[in-house]
Amino acid sequence: MRLSHHYATALPETVSKVIPQTLDGIALQWHNSELSAQFNLPTGDDLMAAIFTSGGKLAVNAVAQKYGGHQFGQWNPRLGDGRGLLLGEVTDSHGQRFDLHLKGAGQTPYSRQADGRAVLRSTLREYIASEALHHLHIPTSRALCLMTSVHSIRREHEEPGAMMIRMAPSHIRFGHFEYYFRSRQADTLDKLMNYTLENYFTECQRHAKPHKALLTAISLRTARMIALWQTFGFVHGVMNTDNMSIHGITFDYGPYAFVEHFKSDAVFNHSDYEGRYAFDRQPGIALWNLNALAHAFTDYLSTDEIRECLALFEPTFLSQYRYQMLNRIGIDDNSDNEPCLHQWLALLEQNNLDYTLSFRQLATADPSVEMSSLRDQFVDRKAFDHWWHDYRQRRLTKTNNNSEQSLTELNPVVIPRTHYLQHAIEAAEQGDFGPAEALMAAVKQPFSDNRITRNFQQPAKHNSQVSLSCSS
Ligand code: AMP
Ligand code: MG
Repeated sequence: MRLSHHYATALPETVSKVIPQTLDGIALQWHNSELSAQFNLPTGDDLMAAIFTSGGKLAVNAVAQKYGGHQFGQWNPRLGDGRGLLLGEVTDSHGQRFDLHLKGAGQTPYSRQADGRAVLRSTLREYIASEALHHLHIPTSRALCLMTSVHSIRREHEEPGAMMIRMAPSHIRFGHFEYYFRSRQADTLDKLMNYTLENYFTECQRHAKPHKALLTAISLRTARMIALWQTFGFVHGVMNTDNMSIHGITFDYGPYAFVEHFKSDAVFNHSDYEGRYAFDRQPGIALWNLNALAHAFTDYLSTDEIRECLALFEPTFLSQYRYQMLNRIGIDDNSDNEPCLHQWLALLEQNNLDYTLSFRQLATADPSVEMSSLRDQFVDRKAFDHWWHDYRQRRLTKTNNNSEQSLTELNPVVIPRTHYLQHAIEAAEQGDFGPAEALMAAVKQPFSDNRITRNFQQPAKHNSQVSLSCSS
């Protein structure tokens, strides 16, 4: 396996060398065979030896990256990889370069008062969610492996410690640019801009105004990602700018959840008292975050140029969202059909129905019948009948009937529901990874209604909104 260190070599002033600290009884629990095959990486004991054996190829040049971030709207310059380490980069046979990032390997200069560790609960949640999003075709970082230990770690109570390695094109966050701009390190900011352009946005580098092209590309990628979050009901939970990837991929999973009974302003992070990161606020927050990032471009672009870049966010988000959603319900992508979508969402919310299951049922409903069996789910049947009468005409007259991509392929049966995750975590904490493995197998085929996915389709029994902790 060949590991490169382009980031650490090009930007040494932005990193600190750190030797990863292992945990007692560390053992490889899972590895992602798809990724190890793509990047020709060692597996099993060979991977563990490479990370932790003294002089191991992976560990020896590990670095923690320095960045800052806006947390819940407040600028915090004191952030950085507090428990994550960039081991280096690997390249696949197509020349695609990805970071290997080890999470939970002990303290770094940016740990502040915290322990630099990760618990099994949060690593399992990240592993399963990132695989789930990947298979829903939502851009995301991926997990390469999960390692368990016998070491217990203090959070709200004692929990088993674990580590994971995740992969992403890079770990450059909005907060990287913000930090070097706000701390007036103009030379480093310039190097970071050039590094990003040369390594990850080569199409922008060739542009007459590379920095403008870069900010535009980040805005567009972010808009497309958020449109997919909104389409599938994903709530990130902590959209601080240090958790926003410049690649427009879902990144730094914390107290995330998928909406179940539909509530447009659902909040799952119990530290988010004001609902800043509520489901329906995610698009606005993404734009707020892009504004924060754009400040770092003020030495390169005029105010008007920055405005032009950011102005692309809203129309891109709206058109992507409309395209995805109208496709999901099987009607033409045009503005005339938008009210029909909004009425459907309002019906789901008013009738307290499960978001994912309702879309799936609509996908498999027969539009040729005048009275759909779906109506039984709705308390307000009259309102549903009224909507159905209008909707079925639109669906029957769809011009572009893409039969090759049937509606079931756009409407999952499985999302990683919190109650299945909790059950899987509790069993894994007792040493039984069976439920977690079964859930993992299901989220990897979210559109198939089969023996494997059947056990993971149901909403939580109590109609309560789960509240998740940030402490991970
Ligand atoms: P997060 O909210 O998880 O994105 O983390 C915010 C900041 O806190 C980042 O700089 C993390 O590296 C740091 N951090 C979170 N948990 C820990 C931990 N257990 N030990 C050290 N640093 C941490
Ligand atoms: Mg983070």
